Amino acid sequence: NKYEQGLEKSRTGFGARLNALLANFRHVDEEFFDNLEEALIESDVGFEMAVSLSDQLREEVKLQNAKSQQEVTNVIIEKLVDIYEQQGKNEDNAIHFAKQGPTVILFVGVNGVGKTTTIGKMAALYQRQGKKVLLAAADTFRAGATEQLQVWGDRDHVKVVTGPDQGDPAAVVYDAVNQAKNEDYDVLFVDTAGRLQNKVNLMNELAKMKRIISREIEGAPQEVLLVLDATTGQNALTQAKLFKESTDVTGIVLTKLDGTARGGIVLAIRNELHLPVKMVGLGEQVDDLQEFDAGEFVYGLFK
Ligand code: GDP
Repeated sequence: NKYEQGLEKSRTGFGARLNALLANFRHVDEEFFDNLEEALIESDVGFEMAVSLSDQLREEVKLQNAKSQQEVTNVIIEKLVDIYEQQGKNEDNAIHFAKQGPTVILFVGVNGVGKTTTIGKMAALYQRQGKKVLLAAADTFRAGATEQLQVWGDRDHVKVVTGPDQGDPAAVVYDAVNQAKNEDYDVLFVDTAGRLQNKVNLMNELAKMKRIISREIEGAPQEVLLVLDATTGQNALTQAKLFKESTDVTGIVLTKLDGTARGGIVLAIRNELHLPVKMVGLGEQVDDLQEFDAGEFVYGLFK
């Protein structure tokens, strides 16, 4: 199972810390909860979250009168899933589609996080489901960005709308949105620039693209997905806050979860950003993308 393979590092990191703690478990005492707190901090759950989580676990263990290693393990697993799902009570993890006409999904995020790769993977996924997919290369700024998307387009046999290097990305978007409308595409994915050196320009550019999209297609974009690199830990959260302040982000794609032992970032995103993780990247290949499922994720850590 790809998901389990992809989570190998998280399991040997985040999961292993908890598993080691539980393997050495003698009885429920203060030292156990201290060590638990430490394991959570090391897993990028975030400091406050780690403290609050171990407090909640202390309560819950008491409440359920859990004594054995297995009982305590079950309390921890249930609580982690519960916390993720509770905080997402009013959100749902699914990607939203237009009832009629093309769905537009805008991908935002810093350079190198895996935007282009995610678009390539998602294009293949939706195409397999029988949808007609169009890509727009609206990162005209970074040298090679258009070509890189084109490589995925060729691989997936999906058309890519491009513009001249250093040209206006909004013009590419305008072009792509109109092709999507006129040629009956089901989904349009828009790849955007991620140069954080010039935040104000970047945010203005994203806002302009969004305006054009919603002007040309009512109700679009249906999703603005912020792509974050799980291996950057707390840095990813800082980036997310910045994008969230200036764009209406609808969900997170968390990439490179296969490359980190700190899977706790998933809980930190939920806790601090209150945004649903909609998809996770578990490798560089076209199939290495999954819809995120909190239960599957947490249980996977303890396998
Ligand atoms: P962009 O600048 O945001 O478009 O990032 P790219 O899509 O070019 O990705 C940057 C690098 O990360 C590439 O080498 C990708 O192969 C790699 N990458 C993307 N997603 C994943 C993932 O889920 N797991 C791993 N291990 N690598 C990934």
